[in-house]
Amino acid sequence: MTTTIFRPIQAAVTRGKGAPFVLEQARIRAPEGDEVLVRIIATGMCHTDMIVRDQYYPVPLPAVLGHEGSGVIEAVGPLVQNLEVGDHVVMTYGYCGHCLACDSGHAAYCKDFFGRNFSGAGPDGRNALLDEKGEALHDHFFAQSSFATYALGRENNTIRVPKEAPIELLGPLGCGIQTGAGAVINSLKVTPGSAFAAFGGGAVGLSAVLAAQVAGASTIIVVDVVPSRLELALELGATHVVNSRESDPVAAIREITGGGVQFALESTGRPEVLRQAVDALGSRGALGVVGAPPLGTNANFDVNDLLLGGKTIRGIVEGDSVPKKFIPELVHLYMQGKFAFDKLVKFYDFDQINQAAQDSEKGVTLKPIIRIQK
Ligand code: NAD
Repeated sequence: MTTTIFRPIQAAVTRGKGAPFVLEQARIRAPEGDEVLVRIIATGMCHTDMIVRDQYYPVPLPAVLGHEGSGVIEAVGPLVQNLEVGDHVVMTYGYCGHCLACDSGHAAYCKDFFGRNFSGAGPDGRNALLDEKGEALHDHFFAQSSFATYALGRENNTIRVPKEAPIELLGPLGCGIQTGAGAVINSLKVTPGSAFAAFGGGAVGLSAVLAAQVAGASTIIVVDVVPSRLELALELGATHVVNSRESDPVAAIREITGGGVQFALESTGRPEVLRQAVDALGSRGALGVVGAPPLGTNANFDVNDLLLGGKTIRGIVEGDSVPKKFIPELVHLYMQGKFAFDKLVKFYDFDQINQAAQDSEKGVTLKPIIRIQK
């Protein structure tokens, strides 16, 4: 009989729908197979943590959320081949690695994406976390559950990054930042000299703005309703901003571009904004949809406008990122001063996690990063 070894950890637990995160003592089991145990240094907080806390997505509770972890490898399972203890890593979304989508380089559309990221347990249905009473906590959120001092990932979602990069900053590259940047670079393939509009200037939308500059877009428009976000968008390189509480964004974009943008990204998760984004596309324009509304939400658009305009609307998960390639590329761009995503973040201590959530929801903080430990 083998005995499972557990290590004491501290974790922020979500015990009920909309309930605050509560710091609790818990335990995590040692890595098995291709699993990797990461000592979490910091973790970004993303809108998706909040929509799961509020149960828009039915992850079973009580659970440990958190899915933008960064840290240092503490231990590896016996089947891990290319990572070692001491590596600095960013944790990203989970995928099976052997379905058709994964095999063809599109792991963000893995046939088991929901199971690997939102089921609240590992692929074998087991939990790796126990609370103080010895009861199982739902975990494996985005194949990590990184609102904790330690997190278990797998080799394929634990991405090595250079040791000279600031590890406490890098976690958001694993989800929100790679989603916005990847949507522009990998999915829409924004071209030099083109016009791009971000509907929503949160962490995802403004990462897209940074990436649109890397891609060489010459007109970059941000639509939002929060004046401070629009100001930041201009600082980050947007050429125009539109406050859609004050003016009609579709008319404004048509005027700025002389007919509509070639590329747009919807990151508000609001169907009425999605409609505006479709309407603001120029002839043969393409819209990427990343904003996540509650499951079952419908949206509408004018079919003939879509058809006669040759427009494209496509959903995008995680910026179509191949994480092992794209995350290090973003780190290099950052280190070269070409992708200043540090301007989006504000750091909080672990015991300020609820303040971070509140500030994010109020729009005061764009991308909170929770410092878990040194
Ligand atoms: P965020 O809340 O920081 O950004 C949303 C922005 O939309 C805010 O700045 C808000 O002011 C703005 N907004 C709200 N109503 C608006 C309106 N009527 N018109 C214009 N702007 C409006 O969130 P985020 O972290 O940037 O994430 C954006 C979305 O992307 C969320 O829904 C999140 O769940 C989703 N997401 C999706 C993926 C994916 O793979 N598809 C990955 C990460 C995040």
